[in-house]
Amino acid sequence: MRKPIVVGNWKLNGSHADNESLVTGVLSEMADMADMAAIDVAVCPPFVFIPQVEGLATSMSLGVGGQNCSEHDSGAFTGEVAPGMLFDVGARYVILGHSERRAMYGETNEIVSAKVKAALAAGLTPILCVGETLEERESDQTEAVVRQQLAAVIAGNGIAAFERMVIAYEPVWAIGTGRTASPEQAQEVHAFIRGQLADHDASVAQSVRIQYGGSMKPANAAELLAQPDIDGGLIGGASLKAEDFLGICRAAADTVGN
Ligand code: PEP
Repeated sequence: MRKPIVVGNWKLNGSHADNESLVTGVLSEMADMADMAAIDVAVCPPFVFIPQVEGLATSMSLGVGGQNCSEHDSGAFTGEVAPGMLFDVGARYVILGHSERRAMYGETNEIVSAKVKAALAAGLTPILCVGETLEERESDQTEAVVRQQLAAVIAGNGIAAFERMVIAYEPVWAIGTGRTASPEQAQEVHAFIRGQLADHDASVAQSVRIQYGGSMKPANAAELLAQPDIDGGLIGGASLKAEDFLGICRAAADTVGN
């Protein structure tokens, strides 16, 4: 049984005041939810707010992560943040290969693979995002695109690295659009991802957690999370409202033992 994991991607949002009310809102409800220990929950604020959020999330029930990191450890890379720096300020996760970074900042599969390597070496858990655009889906390339995205990371890091990672399947056409993949569409790609990993190592494939991301909300979370290969959610917009984020966490906790 894989432990579900729900992670909030705050993107370019937040302020000291807003973060405090969001995190305290989430934590106060979580404290009363007995089954929350059955799932992992984390939030990924912008870099500069990680120390603040880590300080607020004193109870171990809320992890903190970055939304990106450099593939380099140190040196002349102006504007970059090294994975070791993230770890140093309390982050334990890092989202890598998000479609916004692939599309807007030119992150190739090889760069993403190098970032995974650096993040693992620093002790972080990478959340590796993969997924196809609408054009790719409509031209029947979903599996080919996802296969290449995963293959680069397997080639660069080895299959055993996936024991220390989380994968997020995020169809690009569902991110921030309000258009969610149907449970069947999502399950099909999740099973494909697990199958590709199983071609290398069946036990790694069985243990790796694969989140769904793309307009997940309390109203659609339960049916997505009920799918056999969906092990949690990577949540953008809905992670900025305590009630919505908690609603998804509750849906994830409800799947445990069912
Ligand atoms: C995301 O950006 O990872 C995401 C899933 O966003 P949203 O939930 O807003 O679609």
